[in-house]
Amino acid sequence: MQEICPKCGLLKEICACDVLEKEEAQKIKVYSTKKKFGKLVTIVDGLGKDEIGQTAKELKRKLACGGTAKDGIIVLQGDHKERVKEILASLGYNEENIYVR
Ligand SMILES: [Zn+2]
Repeated sequence: MQEICPKCGLLKEICACDVLEKEEAQKIKVYSTKKKFGKLVTIVDGLGKDEIGQTAKELKRKLACGGTAKDGIIVLQGDHKERVKEILASLGYNEENIYVR
């Protein structure tokens, strides 16, 4: 018997849910936001748990800024949106999956 995908109801052979899920998981969002006292921070959201620590370290080193990584989100002091994208790309992340707002 052919397997049916429980998500979309299509045959597993032609369903694209797994692919879509992967792409979704790979989506990295970069945006800046104002914290208390009007200080700008840059948020990097969507990195995997196993890579977030190392990536945060690299970002902080290359941007020479402070920052924290927790709950799957990197918070960097200051507004570094454009540079963050460049650095992530240089670390091997697919630029197409990095969304800067
Ligand atoms: Zn499906």
